Amino acid sequence: MASSSSFSNSPCAACKFLRRKCLPGCIFAPYFPPEEPQKFANVHKIFGASNVSKLLNEIQPHQREDAVNSLAYEAEARLKDPVYGCVGAISVLQRQVLRLQKELDATNADIMKYATNTFPGNNSGVRAAGSSFGQIYEYDQYPPPSWNNSFSSSSAGHPYDTAGDNNT
Ligand SMILES: [Zn+2]
Repeated sequence: MASSSSFSNSPCAACKFLRRKCLPGCIFAPYFPPEEPQKFANVHKIFGASNVSKLLNEIQPHQREDAVNSLAYEAEARLKDPVYGCVGAISVLQRQVLRLQKELDATNADIMKYATNTFPGNNSGVRAAGSSFGQIYEYDQYPPPSWNNSFSSSSAGHPYDTAGDNNT
């Protein structure tokens, strides 16, 4: 392959697949290089070559690469998951984000609880260092000694729930 042009010898993946002559100006050639035959095969299988060429002709040239990438992505996803396509992957990731967000919220709540319950005692190597949460506490050592004691002595719930309460 010389540095001349992609139309030189080998036809683009689309024309090769469709067994036709790849002419200069072929709408597929810039986006379906011969080195990636599967890309066109997938897109053709899912969307159909004529629909793809129609679509590419209708949009602005600078949008074509993004459009082809999107079609190729969706075609691949649709082949893997014929029912949901890439929506399947998106919803899996969305559920994961929600789950992790909940986990993060719970952890932040635990930290808040720990911080507010530990502060009044102030006997565990934790001292006040500022006024806004996030920099209120500085630890003389990490993890603070109270963590190990509290977490190991309490098996369920938050270790500080009983600190100020009367257990009935
Ligand atoms: Zn072509």
